[in-house]
Amino acid sequence: MKNRILLLMAALAVFLQINAQDVNDTKVILITLDGYRWQELFTGADSLLIANKEYVHDTAMLKKAFWRETPEERREVLMPFFWNQVAKMGQIHGNRPLGSKVNLTNTMWFSYPGYNEILTGSADDLRITSNAKKDNPNKTILEQYNNIPEGKDKVAAFGSWDVFPYIINEERSGVPVNAGFEVAKTNLNEREKFLNELQGQIPSPWGSVRLDAFTHHYALEHMKKEHPKFVYISYGETDDFAHDGDYQAYLKSAHNTDTLLKQLWEFTQQDEFYRNQTVFLISTDHGRGTEPLDTWRSHGSKIEGADQVWLVAFGKNVRSMGEVKQQEQLYSNQIAPTIAKMLGISIAKEAKGQPIKL
Ligand SMILES: [Zn+2]
Repeated sequence: MKNRILLLMAALAVFLQINAQDVNDTKVILITLDGYRWQELFTGADSLLIANKEYVHDTAMLKKAFWRETPEERREVLMPFFWNQVAKMGQIHGNRPLGSKVNLTNTMWFSYPGYNEILTGSADDLRITSNAKKDNPNKTILEQYNNIPEGKDKVAAFGSWDVFPYIINEERSGVPVNAGFEVAKTNLNEREKFLNELQGQIPSPWGSVRLDAFTHHYALEHMKKEHPKFVYISYGETDDFAHDGDYQAYLKSAHNTDTLLKQLWEFTQQDEFYRNQTVFLISTDHGRGTEPLDTWRSHGSKIEGADQVWLVAFGKNVRSMGEVKQQEQLYSNQIAPTIAKMLGISIAKEAKGQPIKL
């Protein structure tokens, strides 16, 4: 009897060890596409906008590129990586007509509150009420990971918007953030030197947001060199082109981002450190309006539907479900607790969301 118990305990110890190792080997890449609507993600180009001279400079070109008869064809031509590859290997949540809903829990429905919710696992409607460059009093999951020995200096964040150093509280957290028009600074490779040069020579249309190709390649080069275990990348163009009322640029940007995501995925699958060990989680900080038509440009608490978002997951230990067609209600505050579980760290008591079973 005693022997059997000892044997059982030994087996349990081995089992726990294997499980602990499993958790520790997981790498997470969290990605957001600022203000990208679920409407375009699931149905592609909008029939009311794509031929509208008010929002599209060259309607013939845009229709040729992105107009097709059915929503399934339209979304596939707009985001081929999502709909050809991710739909096979992962999960795409948020197609509301099919019953899959993802919503914000904050009531602001703009960027800082959205990113705070995604990154901390909780809305903070009392303190996070503007997009001002104020250090976040809340600790993000990036900071929590950087605070444990396993995650120390194995985390990095890249953003197109220059408010990210404050959202992540770079100073307190110690998480390196390359955002806005910052250049790469340490241990530069040739590509980073060239990116730094180009960033100064390719003017952004906006004052506080750079073009996403810079954010993307700074992140990619950093991953090649430093191999962080947890990376956050925030693309920004979709929101700014929408505010500009430029549907042509909004669609082209969504299409381009899809290609960038494919490149990131392919990089991780070629790299020994990341291959078969990496989970991708992709979402957005808020939705936008649909009715009246011009509200596609806007969001915020007065815009109906701007709390409607989406979530994509694929990679290590993520079941293949494709487009989720069952009734469900997910929330953005579940993203940080889900990541905490993947990385094997305890979920902060402030987090309100429950981990999602992927
Ligand atoms: Zn916005």
